[in-house]
Amino acid sequence: MTERLDVFMARANAAYYARHDPFADFTTAPEISQVFGEIMGLWAAVCWQLLGSPTEVLLVEAGPGRGTLMADALRAIGQATPAFRAALQVHLIETSPRLRAAQAERVPDATWHDALDTVPAAPMLLIANEFLDALPIRQFVRRAGGWTERHVAEGRFVEEPADPADIPPGWGSPPDGTVREHAPHALAFVESVASRLVAHPGAALFADYGPAEDLPGESLQAIANGKPADALASPGEADLTAHVPFAALAQRARDAGARVHGPDPQGMVLARLGLFQRSNRLARSLSPAQAFSVMETARRLGEPDQMGRLFKMLAITHPDLINCPGFDS
Ligand code: SAH
Repeated sequence: MTERLDVFMARANAAYYARHDPFADFTTAPEISQVFGEIMGLWAAVCWQLLGSPTEVLLVEAGPGRGTLMADALRAIGQATPAFRAALQVHLIETSPRLRAAQAERVPDATWHDALDTVPAAPMLLIANEFLDALPIRQFVRRAGGWTERHVAEGRFVEEPADPADIPPGWGSPPDGTVREHAPHALAFVESVASRLVAHPGAALFADYGPAEDLPGESLQAIANGKPADALASPGEADLTAHVPFAALAQRARDAGARVHGPDPQGMVLARLGLFQRSNRLARSLSPAQAFSVMETARRLGEPDQMGRLFKMLAITHPDLINCPGFDS
């Protein structure tokens, strides 16, 4: 069987998330620190106020994992802005039945969706952490003055001639062997979010791993049993991700008429949103050992030499939201 890489990746990840506990293999910011989800919740609350506090409003999360981020966000929102907590309805976009069950334990009053299409059209605050990186990508290779596309056959890449219509003019004529990636699912998701945010007041915050600039190179990676693995060898046994192309996503959102803020390094956005102050305040109520660990995790999320620079945050908003909390406009 020969499958185009994106078809292979979609099948492999659907099987992986349905069968495995991904958090046995990797950890994520909300699993490291409760402050991460709290800050994202407060970001949504401030955006809601800046958008005129609409009384009908959806709080949407894409790829909610164990539901930890949303549970932390709702707790912080309830304490800081009870009016937003009372107004909002929670909608979760999740395809894995196993993870839906985990989410229902932490966020019982949610409505689940397989995709954005079925989320009602209404004012919305959307958050997504490490969601876009799990969406299928395509890879193209420069060969003899043209391009081939990677397919997967029996655990290895085979190249087939690319459809020239799939090659963006901006890729130019790089040296032979250059690999370029295209993230059609991430682009389509961001485009439909952006269109919704133009039609109704709202804002979306994406946090993920990837470069701020548009660069050549390949970034498909696999994690199985907590270790780097062969991405093609056993579909469904490894978590497949790729770097998120922030420049292309930002452009797609702008083209759809939305306002774009960032991408900025995650550490910078979290620091502007009060990561260190909030962690400090939390630490004061804890034992010295717990306090130390809260400050350690704040550093892990925010410091440039840890996750603070590799991870980026990109906000997409209704065009009228000129100043988005956490971003320099
Ligand atoms: N946001 C969480 C989980 C990240 S793992 C955290 O930060 O901990 C990726 C999440 O996206 C999982 O919940 C996975 O099941 C979900 N996911 C992956 N592909 C998806 C798709 N195509 N549609 C909906 N959810 C998807």
